[in-house]
Amino acid sequence: MPGRILVVDDVATNRLILKAKLAAAYYDVLEADCGQSAFDRARKEQPDVILLDIMMPDMDGYTVCEMLKACPETSHIPVVMVTASGAPKERIKGLSVGADDYLVKPINDMALFARVRNLLRVKMMFDELKLRDSTSRELGLTDFLETIEEGAGKSETVMLAPAADSQGDVWKDAISKMPNVDVIGSCSEREALNMARFEMPDAIIVQQSIMQEGDSLRLISALRARPETRQAVIIYVVADGAIETAAKALDLGASDYLMEPFEPEEMIIRLRTQLRRKRYSDQLRSNVRDGLKMAVIDPLTGLYNRRYATQHMQKIVERAQESGKDFAVMMMDLDKFKRINDTEGHDAGDMVLKEFSRRIQENVRGVDLVARMGGEEFLVVMPDAGAMTAKHVSERLRRAVECNPFVTADGVELNITVSIGVSIGTEKDDDPGKLVKCADLALYEAKANGRNLVSFHEAA
Ligand SMILES: [Mg+2]
Repeated sequence: MPGRILVVDDVATNRLILKAKLAAAYYDVLEADCGQSAFDRARKEQPDVILLDIMMPDMDGYTVCEMLKACPETSHIPVVMVTASGAPKERIKGLSVGADDYLVKPINDMALFARVRNLLRVKMMFDELKLRDSTSRELGLTDFLETIEEGAGKSETVMLAPAADSQGDVWKDAISKMPNVDVIGSCSEREALNMARFEMPDAIIVQQSIMQEGDSLRLISALRARPETRQAVIIYVVADGAIETAAKALDLGASDYLMEPFEPEEMIIRLRTQLRRKRYSDQLRSNVRDGLKMAVIDPLTGLYNRRYATQHMQKIVERAQESGKDFAVMMMDLDKFKRINDTEGHDAGDMVLKEFSRRIQENVRGVDLVARMGGEEFLVVMPDAGAMTAKHVSERLRRAVECNPFVTADGVELNITVSIGVSIGTEKDDDPGKLVKCADLALYEAKANGRNLVSFHEAA
């Protein structure tokens, strides 16, 4: 997994050491020797991870981190603080300005690489989701989507899997103080997997149990593999100095780890960062899902679009071949629609299209396919419907348009009519395109004969 890493340190030797280590592992390394140049390079060159020294002459690492997190061009880039002091207070300060982790000099290689791999994985996932989301947006598919404000939705749930109940109680006390977060239960490692499947928590905190080290790592990889917890935050709590186990946990899919002893505040900050990240990725994921849905839906009317209709008609044809039952294909076109747009404006035109869609849906069955084929042209396909049913339904649709005027937002009443062309498919038909063409020919005939008419295509 290649990646570009920006190493920030005012001491050239420190940069050289880190650069040698990272380059040996095939990472691309960029360097900066002060806070300002770190910020500039990050904006211009968009590294995947930033390793940030704290003590620097121009400005300290905390300030640089705050600047990076406040700038939209760099706020998504993960930051790891690198410092000589491992005091809990320093650590909490670094995490609370938005750093993703904190490494103490001299840097342990295993801790460094496991963390870099973890952050690169997260960043790649985000980059991919953002790319798909932006594609959907560029296609105009998700314009209406709202973003969820922090804390606006339901509360988030955190499940605890401590090594001992007393430990769980201490964590629970701390986490319960977070707004909109519920601790849903404290349980043993063994019960954790079952409980997680039922409760589907947003976050799970797993403690490395001294007696069964292997089990807690297996638990992490099992949680990552299960669909119910695949997207959950997993924080691993390891014993003092157990850096190898922590590194393994990150590689198995843990989101973050905490090394004992730690202040409850550190747990809360790390949990909050991870939950925020999860909310964002959930949002992106649902945008992408909705974007896919919108690829087959006409945004104005909410009906299926031509792409979907063409695809789905093939299935209706195949089903008719199996059942031996006829099906009806109706093409509809609002009469002189262009005139409405020209004289009443496009808003009125849109209202007519929406209201027409509503009236169609009101007059057909749930199993019938209704689609907007483009402009003021609509398609209805009725499975298991012969000429008699088609005649009945198409006449009803024609009257549903003619008999009640369409009312604009300004209260103007518009008298509108529709022309309908119908073709009937049989078990012998295997080309949906041909049936649509036949319905289209019948539609032309209805138009030619004076509009506001239903016309049937006479099979040769
Ligand atoms: Mg320094």
